[in-house]
Amino acid sequence: MHIGLPKEIKVKENRVALTPGGVGTLVRRGHRVTVEQGAGVGSGIQDSEYVQAGATLGSAQDAWAADMVVKVKEPIASEYGFLRDGLLLFTYLHLAADRALTDALLKSGTTAVAYETVQEQDGSLPLLSPMSEVAGRLSVQAGAYHLQKPVGGRGVLLGGVPGVQAGHVVIVGGGVVGTNAAKMAMGLGAKVTVLDVSHRRLTYLDDVFFGKLTTMMSSEANIRALLPEADLLIGAVLIPGAKAPHLVTRDMLPLMQEGSVIVDVAVDQGGCVETIHATTHDDPTYIVDGVIHYGVANMPGAVPRTSTFALTNQTLPYALQLADRGLDAIRSSRALSLGLNTHQGKLTYRGVAEAFGMDH
Ligand code: NAD
Repeated sequence: MHIGLPKEIKVKENRVALTPGGVGTLVRRGHRVTVEQGAGVGSGIQDSEYVQAGATLGSAQDAWAADMVVKVKEPIASEYGFLRDGLLLFTYLHLAADRALTDALLKSGTTAVAYETVQEQDGSLPLLSPMSEVAGRLSVQAGAYHLQKPVGGRGVLLGGVPGVQAGHVVIVGGGVVGTNAAKMAMGLGAKVTVLDVSHRRLTYLDDVFFGKLTTMMSSEANIRALLPEADLLIGAVLIPGAKAPHLVTRDMLPLMQEGSVIVDVAVDQGGCVETIHATTHDDPTYIVDGVIHYGVANMPGAVPRTSTFALTNQTLPYALQLADRGLDAIRSSRALSLGLNTHQGKLTYRGVAEAFGMDH
């Protein structure tokens, strides 16, 4: 199959959908790969690395002319002209939030497989979890930085030093983001408490961290009790398909100490802190009641190189199936069939159809 790798053109998107290693794997399997010039630059990957891996360099038109186009972000309006009948598109789409793109995909007849809806038998979302891993780990780095006095924080070093107590990191939600945040916070030497409503998750965390962190059932009372001693609060809750519940409400903020930090990773689902709103890497924080709020909605964008490799590690096996077997791969794989969002002018994903009151 001919596979195209265009450069991402959405503002501030520096990731790329295939690494040279991924291109090499596809080429060795007998596929032809066209990489748009400069596609990997934002992730520190040079054109020459793709050429060495067996790709041909070309323009955006050349990459989009392929049978299958592999991307990171959804096509933006200036890319709609590349959509066409017979094209297989494999990328993040988030169609329920994007009517214009949904219409463009349907009108063009594109077959679109969305990363975010590819789902394995056990219910896991393998193409979302790498970005949660990145955001979870980054949340502690961001929080530790904003706790420093010169940037407005309490002036607390999370790890403490001998003779001085460590900072306390309270993590609400012990899933992928929460577990990765806990790992980083413990690595820094902080005191860590994780709250979740799932006893199974708390048991798991207690087991893997040998009881070196504190686990607590997530309840309003427990959150209220922890806020006065939290130096860094990390929001990491997810209720699939729903807005995040507001677990830290505005009236609770005065319980926190001045200069303490909230990093609400769940901001992309509305946030689990009532006073959070989405911010950007250029202007990541603001203060409410003396508490620093960090609400960057695309945290992995800060570390595109790591994010590119993390994402492509997970997407490549599915991209290989699609390249080797085309539509047959979708027919025979439950995970890929759940990823299918549009095909020959039809909406094929229930959640998106319901969002727009359309048939599927
Ligand atoms: P996950 O499903 O792995 O974990 C969510 C956890 O929240 C689960 O363990 C669940 O039991 C728990 N939970 C549900 N209700 C709770 C409650 N009331 N109190 C405490 N815990 C509760 O999800 P994840 O992959 O860790 O993602 C978490 C959030 O981070 C999602 O909203 C996701 O979209 C977001 N995210 C944001 C970024 C970013 O850049 N800001 C990047 C990646 C992921």
